[in-house]
Amino acid sequence: MRETKLSARTGEILDRLESLYPDADCELNYGNAYELLIATILSAQCTDKRVNAVTPNLFARYPAADDLAKAALPEVEEIIQSTGFFRAKAKSITGCARALVAEHGGDVPRDFVAAVKLPGVGRKTASVVLGHAFGIAEGIAVDTHVLRLTARLGLTKNNDPIRVEQELMKLVPQKRWVKTTDLIIFHGRRVCNARKPLCGECGIFDLCAWESKQAYAMGEKKPKVKDGSRPVEGNARSNSLRRSDGVWGLGTPTKGGLRPPARGAEANSLRRSDGVWGLSTPTKRSLRPPAREAKANSLRRSDGAWGLSTPTKRSLRPPAKRTSK
Ligand code: SF4
Repeated sequence: MRETKLSARTGEILDRLESLYPDADCELNYGNAYELLIATILSAQCTDKRVNAVTPNLFARYPAADDLAKAALPEVEEIIQSTGFFRAKAKSITGCARALVAEHGGDVPRDFVAAVKLPGVGRKTASVVLGHAFGIAEGIAVDTHVLRLTARLGLTKNNDPIRVEQELMKLVPQKRWVKTTDLIIFHGRRVCNARKPLCGECGIFDLCAWESKQAYAMGEKKPKVKDGSRPVEGNARSNSLRRSDGVWGLGTPTKGGLRPPARGAEANSLRRSDGVWGLSTPTKRSLRPPAREAKANSLRRSDGAWGLSTPTKRSLRPPAKRTSK
């Protein structure tokens, strides 16, 4: 019964968004499936605008998968540098191009299972590419906007993209799956942004379940809850970072992210290469034993990394030099 009501409300939200944004579409520029695939991989942790700024140069230099497969990594890295994580992305797109050539004759497969096996391609990328390049709806792409809006709208209580996608696929008929992502992203970018949602101007205000919508609509600066999505559940906090947009999750570190994690989580924590505390891939530096002077202050943690067990403001400073007697 609850699901039927939720499904009806979801349909109403999508209808409304469709009338508000009749031109909602993928905002990456592309000319064919290969270009969309590469652009979508590059769009991870980056704006579509930034990707659109680098892809003309990239595709002029490597117009087909065959060209990109043979590309020299440093050259690709230089072209895509401004999209962030450029070394990993360069490996992903060249690896993906090699797989396209080796396994699919240089073409993007029209099969979801084959697509998600390509290097750098997950469910989100595969759904975007198959949906927009071939009109094949095999899933609903869930990105940061979809996560935030589905939470605010009260369509899900989950914050795991896979589970949110599964729930949306039950609520939305398959023929609307591709448009669902486009419409939600359009609204997220234009009205329901992460830090300052324009609830007072929102065309789906009456259908939204967010408890802070009234506060934002009235122009109150401090809403009842601190961010648009929900805080992470239970013990997951030490795994999380608060991003600059106020949303919990891995992303751009903020000043807040430089704070040590909540009490009790310290011993499990690592300081990442970007200076943020949180469970994450330890950097090479953190695996090295500390400098001689600092060793007496250090502990070898259970994860094998050297470091002060309780991160404090002091631990952010280099250890004091030893004074000679
Ligand atoms: S009312 Fe506010 S929170 Fe709800 S969808 Fe609109 S802008 Fe987003």
